[in-house]
Amino acid sequence: LISDAVVRKLEDIVGSENVSTSPTDLHVYSYDASIAHATPDVIVWPQTTEQVSQIMKLAYEEEIPVTPRGAGSCLSGGPLPLKGGISITMTKMTRILDLNPNRLQVSVEPGVVVDRLNEYLQPHGLFYPINPASSSIATIGGCVGEDAGPLRGVKYGTTKNWVLGLEVVLPNGKVIHVGSKTFKHVAGYDLVRLMVGSEGTLGIFTKINLRLAPIPEAVAVASAFFDSADAAGKGVRDAILSGVDPSGIELMERAVVEAASKHAGLKLPQAEFLILYEIAGSKESIEPRVRKLTKVLKEAGATAVDVAYEAEERARLWKARKAAFPALSRLRPTCIMEDVAVPIDNVGKLLEALRSLAKKHDVMVATFGHAGDGDLHPTITTDERDEEEMKRVAAFRADMYKAVVDLEGTITGEHGVGITKKPYLKLQFREDEIEVMRSIKRAIDPKNILNPGKII
Ligand SMILES: Cc1cc2nc3c(=O)[nH]c(=O)nc-3n(C[C@H](O)[C@H](O)[C@H](O)COP(=O)(O)OP(=O)(O)OC[C@H]3O[C@@H](n4cnc5c(N)ncnc54)[C@H](O)[C@@H]3O)c2cc1C
Repeated sequence: LISDAVVRKLEDIVGSENVSTSPTDLHVYSYDASIAHATPDVIVWPQTTEQVSQIMKLAYEEEIPVTPRGAGSCLSGGPLPLKGGISITMTKMTRILDLNPNRLQVSVEPGVVVDRLNEYLQPHGLFYPINPASSSIATIGGCVGEDAGPLRGVKYGTTKNWVLGLEVVLPNGKVIHVGSKTFKHVAGYDLVRLMVGSEGTLGIFTKINLRLAPIPEAVAVASAFFDSADAAGKGVRDAILSGVDPSGIELMERAVVEAASKHAGLKLPQAEFLILYEIAGSKESIEPRVRKLTKVLKEAGATAVDVAYEAEERARLWKARKAAFPALSRLRPTCIMEDVAVPIDNVGKLLEALRSLAKKHDVMVATFGHAGDGDLHPTITTDERDEEEMKRVAAFRADMYKAVVDLEGTITGEHGVGITKKPYLKLQFREDEIEVMRSIKRAIDPKNILNPGKII
């Protein structure tokens, strides 16, 4: 697909050390954290907006597909170049450009890793709240691409709530700036929201202006144990309705707690469902809120509630939660992390539906996730080489998406449609609605060169 002449032009733009056609590199860049794969013809690592713009101008002229990539931790195939072409990998654009504590804003390049940003902000008493479980590797650009969700979504929402402005290179190479340096603006269509979660199909982000939050004075994490899906669902809903203002509510079912405890070398109490609640705020507010939360959870059916105040103990619990996917992925040769969300009063019903569908299709499914956002990750452990089992997995997935839509939910809360959920978008939207999405894509990318074949 790509001639030697084009490779030479790319080398002229970014330097030969930032271009690769080595079969080993191409192989590595054929994967993300899903089970899909697609191989690029060439990888480029730009370092400036100007280079990104020149690459896009070249690609536009030559009609070469270009797929943006951050750390490649996507779970839906987003950074995989379905049509080959250029993998434009943003991991060398890692500068933190402008911190303005008085405005609670920071401007960064897209390759900055989430945890690195928070390490940088910590001495200033600030933090960027959107910390996905992959925060040690995920880039800010990739998080904007997917509208990633954090472990603290109940209070802080998702990436879209924290992006104030973007510098975007369009498919034709033009550079635009969208958004505003204010916390609110309604000047024209909201192009920031259009770009956030666009999965690399509308533009390439080269600068991102983020809103920040002050680090809370004190934090506690309550672990609550439930022995039924219904009680766990009530424990999620009632905690939110109680007004104790949890910042995060994260759920793990028994199989996940077992695997994660083993993987992370931790001893956690076993229960059908373990739910972690983060309570953060002023020192004096914590104790009364924790007391009220404990009472609410017991009334909802929790069999026990433990509270961790010390940083070390809290870190231990988050370590277990963050270990969920790596731990499950060791159980069998293939691991598929799904991502579905329902309104918060339907979490219990979703947990029940997942258990009954797993049984019906005879597949191994272990569920965890951001329950306070109604967002769960039913994770299938299986073996891609077993055709019979993969048919059952496919049947489970199809039934699961139907059940989620019936519960007024969405086929993806944060991982994106990418490749793996594309066939199911029509369960959630009618053709007229999908056609509006198509027409936006056509208007911005008339030659369909940016991450073609994704979402719609
Ligand atoms: C163990 C594990 C835990 C996870 N936990 C969470 C979680 O808690 N919450 C969550 O939301 N996700 C989670 N994920 C999924 C994933 O980490 C996130 O989607 C993350 O935001 C992807 O970042 P990345 O840098 O890896 O981007 P990539 O995977 O490389 O790319 C993601 C998408 O963004 C596009 N993109 C990348 N950079 C740019 C750019 N500069 N401009 C335009 N488009 C771009 C790509 O084309 C692609 O479509 C997890 C994944 C793993 C493996």
